[in-house]
Amino acid sequence: MSVYGQNHFTWNGTLRDLHGSYTGFCTGRGRPSMTATLSSSSGLEVLLSTLQNVGDVESTLNILSVLDELLSAGTDGRIHYMIKKGGSEALLTALVKYGHTFSPNYTILIPLLHLLAKVGHKDRRIGMKAEEAGAVLLTLNLLKHNGQHARRTAACLWVIQVFCSSVSTANLIGENHGLDVIYRLIPQYTTKHLHAIKAAINAFSALLCTKANVCSAVSKEYISGFLWLYEDWHSKDNQDVAIAIRHALLCCLLKATDSTAGRQAFLSQGGIRLLYQTAQTCLLSKNLECLVEPSVQLMRKCLPRIPLPVTSDQSAYSFLLPGTPAFTDVSETPDESSDESDAEEAEDNHEANNRDYDDDLETDLNKLRLPPDPDRPKELLTQYSCFCPELSHDFQELDLSSETGDSSTASSSSDDEVVLLNKDRTKTTASRDSSTSDGSYSEMEISSRDMPAAAHLEACDFHSHSSILGTSPGFRTMVRGAMGEASPCQREDEQDNEEDGTEEFYHHTIIDRLLERHGAGIPHHDPKLYCAVASKTKSIPDFSILAFPDFWGHLPPPGHQPMAPRKPNIQRQKVFEDIQRFLKTDDIINHVVFDLEDSNLQCHSDSLRFFSKFESGNLRKAVQVRRYEYDLILNPDVNSSQHTQWFYFEVSNMAADVPYRFNVINCEKSNSQFNYGMQPVLYSVKEALEGRPHWISTGTEICYFRNNFCPAQGRRRTTFYTLTFTITFKHSEDVCYLAYHYPYTYSALMAHLKILQKSVDPAKVFFKQQTLCSTLAGNSCPIVTITACPVSRRWKDLHQMRNRPYIVLTSRVHPGESNASWVMKGTLEFLCSNDLVAQSLREAFVFKIIPMLNPDGVINGTNRCDLNSKDLNRQWSKPDPLLSPTIYHTKGFLYYLNIIGRTPVVFCDYHGHSRKKNVFLYGCSIKETLWQSGSAVDTVGLKEDPGYRGLQTGTQEHQEMGMKFCHSLLSVTKDTRILYSRKLINHIDLDHNMLDHKSHNCFEDDEPPCAEEIEYSGGCPTLKGSDLDSDIDSNMAHVDDDDKEHSAQKHQQDSISQSQQSSIKNHLFPPQTAIR
Ligand SMILES: [Zn+2]
Repeated sequence: MSVYGQNHFTWNGTLRDLHGSYTGFCTGRGRPSMTATLSSSSGLEVLLSTLQNVGDVESTLNILSVLDELLSAGTDGRIHYMIKKGGSEALLTALVKYGHTFSPNYTILIPLLHLLAKVGHKDRRIGMKAEEAGAVLLTLNLLKHNGQHARRTAACLWVIQVFCSSVSTANLIGENHGLDVIYRLIPQYTTKHLHAIKAAINAFSALLCTKANVCSAVSKEYISGFLWLYEDWHSKDNQDVAIAIRHALLCCLLKATDSTAGRQAFLSQGGIRLLYQTAQTCLLSKNLECLVEPSVQLMRKCLPRIPLPVTSDQSAYSFLLPGTPAFTDVSETPDESSDESDAEEAEDNHEANNRDYDDDLETDLNKLRLPPDPDRPKELLTQYSCFCPELSHDFQELDLSSETGDSSTASSSSDDEVVLLNKDRTKTTASRDSSTSDGSYSEMEISSRDMPAAAHLEACDFHSHSSILGTSPGFRTMVRGAMGEASPCQREDEQDNEEDGTEEFYHHTIIDRLLERHGAGIPHHDPKLYCAVASKTKSIPDFSILAFPDFWGHLPPPGHQPMAPRKPNIQRQKVFEDIQRFLKTDDIINHVVFDLEDSNLQCHSDSLRFFSKFESGNLRKAVQVRRYEYDLILNPDVNSSQHTQWFYFEVSNMAADVPYRFNVINCEKSNSQFNYGMQPVLYSVKEALEGRPHWISTGTEICYFRNNFCPAQGRRRTTFYTLTFTITFKHSEDVCYLAYHYPYTYSALMAHLKILQKSVDPAKVFFKQQTLCSTLAGNSCPIVTITACPVSRRWKDLHQMRNRPYIVLTSRVHPGESNASWVMKGTLEFLCSNDLVAQSLREAFVFKIIPMLNPDGVINGTNRCDLNSKDLNRQWSKPDPLLSPTIYHTKGFLYYLNIIGRTPVVFCDYHGHSRKKNVFLYGCSIKETLWQSGSAVDTVGLKEDPGYRGLQTGTQEHQEMGMKFCHSLLSVTKDTRILYSRKLINHIDLDHNMLDHKSHNCFEDDEPPCAEEIEYSGGCPTLKGSDLDSDIDSNMAHVDDDDKEHSAQKHQQDSISQSQQSSIKNHLFPPQTAIR
């Protein structure tokens, strides 16, 4: 009769065919006689139809019992199947039929209500269906008349609870005094009828899903009533028998405080203090642990929103864009309405959860189209021919006898200067734009005469330290100790010098002497060169100070740094500390100790000092909250009021061995690797001078969670997160730097490129740095060409060279992703190295590298955007030549390669990711990525190198990634001469197992859910083993005095044997596979 297909089944018979055989079961003495001809779909329909039509009590009870057994034994699939077959309607019809009589039969009603609650719980449209059936007010009426019967009350309450899944149903119940009826059923502490009490609280809670009901509950002061009840149950439940009730009360309060009015009522009734105190006692008992989390959520939610202590939400840095009278932040519109609407709030939260998911990944498969035509006329592309110097260079120098270090070779910089390098410190060539002609000076003279800006920088680069030198004897001692001199007479001189113009000289010599004594000898780094390069870097605030780590350099610390373990409940502890600010104000200092916009600020002598007015620096304000706790506010991206996440600042005047708590209070991302073992990085000047110039992952008690700050000027939609960490400094009076991740400045890149250029053998490596374009602020965006020089000038060799395929690599379009620059540094160093693979790569490809697509952003410490407050990575489709020059010209250059028939074989843009670990590759879209990788879309993801699992990747690992990425490029070459070079194969096999990595689907979420709720807008945390179904089941098993007849019925139910039941089940429901 029925046909089972692979994924469907069909009913071919009619109801009438089977009705006869079923009535036997229904009217017989509880002995169902299943016939083999019964079809699965018909059986259930017949059962449901009989339920609605049969008037006989016993049959109805039998049907209910069978249905209940069937549903409780199976999976949710069965319930959904029954709903599809009209199960809810059938139960509602039966309810109306049995509930409407003058003296309702509770023997039937109770199991009926139970079943309805179970089914309705899974039926999203149950509220509407109940309204249509006229069952809503009927149930409320049954409830009103049965206040003395706990089982009946509970049964009605569960049904009311599930009806409230529909807003209109909840409002209907509310309008008919449902709130009052139910509230009266919740007594003070008692040990009786806990099920019914819990059902009442849950039903009340469910009613609060509508604004009208919440308003009504608030106006009737039920919020304070619930607080009072909670306190009563909390204080009297000494034996912990009513934990579920207490939990339900908290969940009810959580629902009530979804609205502004509810939160205000909670706050004004002293809810915070009460919850804080009760939570403290709950913390002492393992049993009560489950009450702490909802208490914390409730307090977080109700704490008043505090505007950020800044005068404007706009960045402290603004930039006048070309062609605009004044900047406008088009990315947002200020919200003028002050009336907070809950609907908007919900939207807000939704947005917070989703807005930054995979920022860099195009997930909309429908957006994939054929590549568009070039966005500009072909004539405009010829300007890019100059960026392929390898195609026109004649390599005449190959014929000359090679002279090492001759700056006229191919490796010579196109820049207008020749720079100072370590090896020729004492005698240097004067720069070409120098006004002097004889060209031979001591280093210091050159600095001060030929590069006035550089000299200024050198004088000032200890500025922040010099201010400490002026006030802090400890630091003076430290520097002198480090220099190994302490002559009193000299000291006097120095003090005198500080008053007049020779201060510059003094500092200059300090640096010289420090470098002489402690120069770290960091590969590919030269402090003097860094100064010289930095002096040309243009910043909005016109930086005149260098951060010590950038100047001095960084060496990766020895060994790997594992993930920091997360202390259990650390977030809870921090939230409690934050709530205490609100409750206990006597130790609150709230003193501003740093303000980017107010340089005259006076600090307490014993407070920490902060500073961030240097390249890539980002700290807008620091507020000392308590003796050893500071709130830090980050500066939004230039010309905008958003994108705060990256930070880099200097801190000094610390005492050793004291834990200082730092809270970065205006982060914007909805989650962070700081919740999963990442630590901020710290650089200590004292340590550096003692020979350990390392950025170190550091900090304890780290967590990241949503806070209750809001924008200063009512941009309400923004949600802020706190990153909190505790640092215990090793040295007193040190000068330290803290950053989100390893900083890598624009000046570092420019210095690095110069050093690389000097490092290569110009006879072998063609290394050419050019300026792709000028940025908005007037900095040059470098483009680097790396390839192997031809073996000779013979046509064949030149031809081979000029026919190499192109590989284009870019990075750092997002300034906050400094790790991308470290990876790029690794790539560049590797490609310039003597490694065999590198040599092969140079012989196989021409590399075009644009290592920093967003120099201005990097310089000015932005996190995401360029100076025009635009995410440059979102400008590719229509880059504006004036406003996004680096993107416009990178794209133009790619077009150019395309029209000359040299479309790159690989184009890769390096990024960082704030919420994923390890290394992974994305294509332009999931679809394209998987297609390119030859994988089926829904089965396999991309391969990830899991080699860094469990580690915090440091600069060493980043650089290694850049190197390994190059290794993988070998596989792209079609040059068999290179591929089958025995020397190379041996080299790779020995050193790198690049072909043999375990793979891992990188689209799977890396992280287990965070142990603690980052948001506080979610629902009530569930209590184990306390779902609706198990409550109902225990109500069924439980026999009250008022329902004695149930006992007999229960017996009858049991009389249907297990085997019979399972045979019924087998016939009533299609096999699981058949359910779709
Ligand atoms: Zn990015």
